[in-house]
Amino acid sequence: MDSTDVIVVGGGLIGCLAARELRADGLSVRIVDRSLVGREASYHAAGMLAPQSEAEEDSPMFRIALQSARLFPGLAEDLYNEVGIDVRFRSEGTFHVAFEDAELENFQELVARQHAVGLTAEIIGPELARREEPALSEEIIGVLSFPEDHQIDNRRLMEAVVASCKKRKVDVVEQAPARELIRDQAGRVCGVSTTAGEFAAGTVVMAAGCWSSLVKGFDVPVEPVKGQILLLELMVPPFRRVLRSADAYLVARLDGRVLIGATMERVGYDKTVSAQAVGALLESARQMVPSLTAAFGGEAWAGLRPATPDGMPAIGWLDEGLMSATGHFRNGILLAPITAQMVADQLSGRPPHPDLPAFDPRRFRGSSQVD
Ligand SMILES: Cc1cc2nc3c(=O)[nH]c(=O)nc-3n(C[C@H](O)[C@H](O)[C@H](O)COP(=O)(O)OP(=O)(O)OC[C@H]3O[C@@H](n4cnc5c(N)ncnc54)[C@H](O)[C@@H]3O)c2cc1C
Repeated sequence: MDSTDVIVVGGGLIGCLAARELRADGLSVRIVDRSLVGREASYHAAGMLAPQSEAEEDSPMFRIALQSARLFPGLAEDLYNEVGIDVRFRSEGTFHVAFEDAELENFQELVARQHAVGLTAEIIGPELARREEPALSEEIIGVLSFPEDHQIDNRRLMEAVVASCKKRKVDVVEQAPARELIRDQAGRVCGVSTTAGEFAAGTVVMAAGCWSSLVKGFDVPVEPVKGQILLLELMVPPFRRVLRSADAYLVARLDGRVLIGATMERVGYDKTVSAQAVGALLESARQMVPSLTAAFGGEAWAGLRPATPDGMPAIGWLDEGLMSATGHFRNGILLAPITAQMVADQLSGRPPHPDLPAFDPRRFRGSSQVD
């Protein structure tokens, strides 16, 4: 059987960044992917890097999200130097818009909580907000500004990371769905069986997103949560920041495309787009930015977020020879760099991240075996 130090099952952003990091540590790495690498959730996402928007309390999740966000400027620069792809990391911040008094009151609480952990957040009145982002609706009564919640073009990021993996001699095997983990006589995981044959490895890293628990022998429960996105095209981007309301978010790419997201649907592995969802997204977007009705092109798609029962990723040793790196749900783009580091630290014998126990993949096995 063909053997490497590590096999990564699943070539999404999590798997590819982990593979890249492991190569930097000198390990031989093979990625096996069911179809083409980088064409699932990591491709369908919006690219928000928003720890402050996504978590409100100081917690392990909040801490690793913040740390991961801070790794992006360096990662973007490294990737540009290595493979010449600009992943369009943009640090213009995020505006949460309010249309009602109750939302503004909630913003006050959020600001207090963010200040308590030393982060920047402020409420801005509607006039100033519209001076900053003139496309915002006259109907807004205020915004909560998170100047450190950023964005990246996740498709360019994925392309750059795959190019970097290939340059670093990661062996990428596509069209090779993993069916089952292979164990030796002592029960240790020592490889995977795929439709393209069997591959041996010292360690298998499971990073197959929402499909992870379909691979026989991997017992972390991961469920798909569908998200539909509508994309509109304009001649120029109508705003710079990420804009969010209670119902939707808007991300404008530099070329004038605007992403409007996203639904949250627990409907299995279905990736169809529905007219009802697209209509609701368009209406929510129009409330925030009325000029979007002048858009001239469009497209819609759905992607599948990998969700564990508690909504937190499952990162770390699951069994001897088997590491989990999945379940990143709504924040897998944001959390990819820190996850890759956590995986590489474990495999290369460096001290584990202090928050790693909170993401122990064995926590779903009934009795907790957190070290
Ligand atoms: C609509 C939407 C918007 C989102 N927006 C954001 C955002 O703004 N910011 C953010 O941080 N996150 C966002 N996310 C979440 C983010 O996209 C995911 O958490 C992240 O992409 C998960 O990455 P992954 O590598 O685990 O999975 P994926 O990117 O899904 O990759 C999994 C890979 O595994 C492969 N695979 C599956 N089964 C097998 C098998 N049996 N054998 C081999 N390979 C297999 C697949 O082909 C695929 O290539 C969004 C998600 C969606 C759907």
